[in-house]
Amino acid sequence: MSDFLKTAAYLGASQECKAARVALFGCPYDGTASYRAGARFGPAAIREASQVLETYDLRTKIDLDNCAFCDLGDLEISPGDKTGSLSQIETAARDLLAEGKIPAALGGEHLISLPLVKAAHALFSDMVLVQFDAHLDLKDKYLGDRLSHATVMRRVADFLPPSRILQVGTRSGTLEEYEFSRKCRNLEANAEDIPRWISNRPVYVTVDLDVLDPAVFPGTGTPEPGGVSYGILEDWLLSLTGQNIIGWDVVELAPHWDPTHVSSIVAAKVVRTLMSLTAVC
Ligand code: MN
Ligand code: MN
Repeated sequence: MSDFLKTAAYLGASQECKAARVALFGCPYDGTASYRAGARFGPAAIREASQVLETYDLRTKIDLDNCAFCDLGDLEISPGDKTGSLSQIETAARDLLAEGKIPAALGGEHLISLPLVKAAHALFSDMVLVQFDAHLDLKDKYLGDRLSHATVMRRVADFLPPSRILQVGTRSGTLEEYEFSRKCRNLEANAEDIPRWISNRPVYVTVDLDVLDPAVFPGTGTPEPGGVSYGILEDWLLSLTGQNIIGWDVVELAPHWDPTHVSSIVAAKVVRTLMSLTAVC
C-alpha cells in the first residue's frame, strides 16, 4: 500500500478502508499549472469545506452516514517531481483497484487523471471515459511539454481509443484540438445522452471543475467564461446513476483564488454527489 499523509477526513469518512468500496485520496500535485497555480491545496480545502455539508443528499436520497467509504489522506507527493508523482498516483490506484475498490481522487490539477485512467484501463480494457471540462485538454504539447494538464486527454487517447472518450461541457481549445476532438464524442448539455453513450460499459469519470461557470466556481487555475450552472453539472452527474463507475476524480480546485471559499464548498458537494453514486449504502 502507498504512503499517505493522514489528514482530517472528508465528511465523516472512515480512515479505515477495509469495509469501504470507495477509497478517497488526495493528489496534491499542480506542477504543470500553466496560469494560476494552487491546485495542490485542493484536497485540504475540499475536506475542510465538507464540514458544512449535510451527509444526506436530497437528490439521491442517500445519507452518507449509512455508507461505507473511506478517506486515506493525501499521497506524499513532491510537486516538483512530475514523473515520481505520476507513478505514485498510478501505483496507489492500481493497489486500490486490485483490492476491488473504487479509487476516488481529489486533485490537484488535471494531469493526475492520466495515471488514474491508466490504472483503470489496465484492469478494465473495455472501459469508457466521461470528462466534464471547459477545456478539451487534447493538445499534443503545451509549452513544449507532452505531459501537462492541457494535454491530459490527448495522452489518455494514446492508449484509450478516442471514440471511447465523451467530453461534456467543453468550450475551449485550439483549432488543432477541435480537429482531433472529432474522433471523440462531444456533448453540450443533454443529460439523457450520457448513459445512452456509456451503454453499460465500465466508466471512469473525471470532473474538471472549471466546466462550471467562473461565476459559480472562480477558484480555479484557468477559468473559462460561458460555463454551466451547478444544477446542470449535478444533472449530468446524476445521469450516471446505476452505471458501473470504476473510478473517479475531481480536479482543478485552486482554493486561494476564491476568497469567499464558495468554490471549495462547490467542489466538496460535487464529491458528495459522486460518493453517493458509488459508495455501498
Ligand atoms: Mn479545464
Ligand atoms: Mn481539464
